[in-house]
Amino acid sequence: MKHSKGILIVISGFSGAGKGTLVKRLLSDYDNYALSISMTTRAPRNSEKDGVEYFFVTKEEFEKTIEEGGLLEHACYCGNYYGTPKKYVEEQLALGRDVILEIDVQGALQIREKFDDTLLLFVTPPSAAELKTRLEGRQTESAEVIANRLSRANEESGWMKEYDFIVVNDDLDECVVNTNSMIEAAHCTPIRSSALINNLQEELKGFSKGDN
Ligand code: 5GP
Repeated sequence: MKHSKGILIVISGFSGAGKGTLVKRLLSDYDNYALSISMTTRAPRNSEKDGVEYFFVTKEEFEKTIEEGGLLEHACYCGNYYGTPKKYVEEQLALGRDVILEIDVQGALQIREKFDDTLLLFVTPPSAAELKTRLEGRQTESAEVIANRLSRANEESGWMKEYDFIVVNDDLDECVVNTNSMIEAAHCTPIRSSALINNLQEELKGFSKGDN
């Protein structure tokens, strides 16, 4: 049972870990999630569309958005800028929905600094060999880009212990159910149940007034 308001859920993980597929399944299998669409200066891959996977912008447009205070966080990843537009996230949280941010470790730590009840999930394949196979199987990137992403994964692995849960993406169906359970459990922690706790305390105070 969910007994707290909507929370921010950061999903990070190695490029090639299957974060995108996991997020799509969370959105289609459950109705309490909203997805933040990031802004990036990287070029769209094959079938990616502006406003669906990302808002694709120029470096100048990205820098202007930073100056205007329009991003909750931003980071440079493999030579491109990525950032989370502020307005949508704030609107969805106000509606009480859980908002998923699929962002890298630098962004995750910036978000947690700003919102201490953010849930941080890190997605990984069961092994490094499997990660390499998945990146090679994508066939959308050059050998150089793949090598760059593996080296980045090596650096990112050093941050895994900062996360609340590690999500092993081996069998996708199992991974989707497990991730949803982690989120449900996170809602029950005291830091995310403050409204419930405060209400209980107020009511209990009222009940104790007549005592003695
Ligand atoms: P890709 O180019 O493979 O779509 O994404 C590269 C990396 O950038 C991934 O680790 C992804 O999670 C991260 N990323 C995507 N959007 C954002 C964002 O808005 N902020 C940050 N900090 N990282 C992002």
